[in-house]
Amino acid sequence: MPYSIMLDAGHGGRDPGAVYNGRQEKDDTLRLTLAVGEILQNNDIDVEYTRTTDVYESPYQKAMEANEAGVDFFVSIHRNSFPTDNAVSGVESLVYSLSGIKLEMAQNINDQLESVGFVNLGVKARPNLVVLKRTKMPAVLVEVGFINSDTDNQLFDNNFDDIAHAIAAGILDTFNQSPAPVPGNYRVQVGSFRNPVYANRLVNELQAQDYPAFIEEGDGYFRVRVGNFPSLDAAVDMERRLKRAGYVTLIVSS
Ligand SMILES: [Zn+2]
Repeated sequence: MPYSIMLDAGHGGRDPGAVYNGRQEKDDTLRLTLAVGEILQNNDIDVEYTRTTDVYESPYQKAMEANEAGVDFFVSIHRNSFPTDNAVSGVESLVYSLSGIKLEMAQNINDQLESVGFVNLGVKARPNLVVLKRTKMPAVLVEVGFINSDTDNQLFDNNFDDIAHAIAAGILDTFNQSPAPVPGNYRVQVGSFRNPVYANRLVNELQAQDYPAFIEEGDGYFRVRVGNFPSLDAAVDMERRLKRAGYVTLIVSS
């Protein structure tokens, strides 16, 4: 089952976003978003876009589009700006909260962009941004350098293809860390944690032993599960294996 993602080119139409010396954020974001989407498509990701032309849609409409499409991830691409020109440069990513796979994706994207030459300003929680708050799937907003930084613009223009590849690589890195669960209703739960560090540790330990383990996030818990299995019998078999290996287990279905 391929992953699906909705890419959002920030701003558009009557909303130019940040502007610096005639350069408009909405143009940079559209060009870059389309380039990132092409690379992801070539890697068998199912890519959808909020816009592929210079049109306006509110952030709320964009979030609703992603929810209706039922995509696995939402990534919004922007350029940053600072009150003073040429005072700050670098990339930063924004997420609703600093946890889960969205945080991993944001960090992966930042790390990849850092390797292209950007200063890495880190990941920040922005719980009030509509595209992060109203989307039902993990969502990341990446600010690809400051539009009022000549350094960042030079990097953006001279390394455009590398930057598109870096963002795509950051997204793909995240998918590889978290294999897509196969369709099925039964899973064997091996742990439930409030702290994602412990969940990640257990998932890595299980994956190292070739168990199809993954994390399901919900209600403030990170649940480590193995599966999915199409039948209860298959889940019971797996549960026996895990119990023999010393794990405390629980079969869950949905
Ligand atoms: Zn923006």
